Amino acid sequence: MPEFDFRAPRLFVDASLATGATVTLERDQSNYLGNVLRLAAGDNILVFNGRDGEWKAAISGRKRPDTLTIASQTRPQDRLPDLAYVFAPLKHARLDYMVQKAVEMGASRLQPVLTRFTQVARVNGERMRANVIEAAEQCGILSLAEVADPVPLARYLENREEQRLLIVCDEAAETADPLQALRKGRADGRGIDVLVGPEGGFAEEERKILVHQPHVLRLSLGPRILRADTAAVAALALVQAALGDWTDTRE
Ligand code: SAH
Repeated sequence: MPEFDFRAPRLFVDASLATGATVTLERDQSNYLGNVLRLAAGDNILVFNGRDGEWKAAISGRKRPDTLTIASQTRPQDRLPDLAYVFAPLKHARLDYMVQKAVEMGASRLQPVLTRFTQVARVNGERMRANVIEAAEQCGILSLAEVADPVPLARYLENREEQRLLIVCDEAAETADPLQALRKGRADGRGIDVLVGPEGGFAEEERKILVHQPHVLRLSLGPRILRADTAAVAALALVQAALGDWTDTRE
């Protein structure tokens, strides 16, 4: 684990970060620092913008925190693994949860796909981005996962780069040692897509198309049917453990 301060509050800001720069806080950020965390002028927090690494910043403001003065860099910019989480969108709270967990598990791209049994037609991209930021602030990463627009499953498959490893989570796959199965899949550093279906599962015709994709691995997550948001966490944990940055974080 890299050395960093777990306790200091960490805030995402849009502005460029450099020594001496000042950043005007937005109303909800000011409210969060002042009313939720009870911080005031003179207190320090950590900030990041997804580009310039992590910086120590001092709060100023008379009545409530309204400005940050950037002091010194505490960590250089990090990079997320090339791991896309591809999923049939869920409704409200469960989608919030799934987005947050995918970010905590290290996904660098969130790609909603619309499948036959997907029950959500419109996805709130702003809300997904807000969840990405909240999760990044919380888990100490300095990069934001990209939020892609929803596309039909067929279009996603057409546009997919063939050399990427496509891991299709399928409750109909034969149960076998998932770590062993994944290690055989080998991503060869060319990126991994993890696909989880909707609550109703994949339709038979979708399954047929999926299993014939190039560089595909059909993965069982054990002998029980998991809810899609649980499958997200289980699948990403296995992928990170077998092929990802749980084994080695060196470049
Ligand atoms: N077809 C099911 C439920 C689908 S669960 C039904 O309605 O009975 C939602 C998604 O989670 C699935 O599409 C699959 O991607 C994933 N999933 C759930 N349990 C799984 C398991 N045991 N193995 C692999 N994937 C699973």
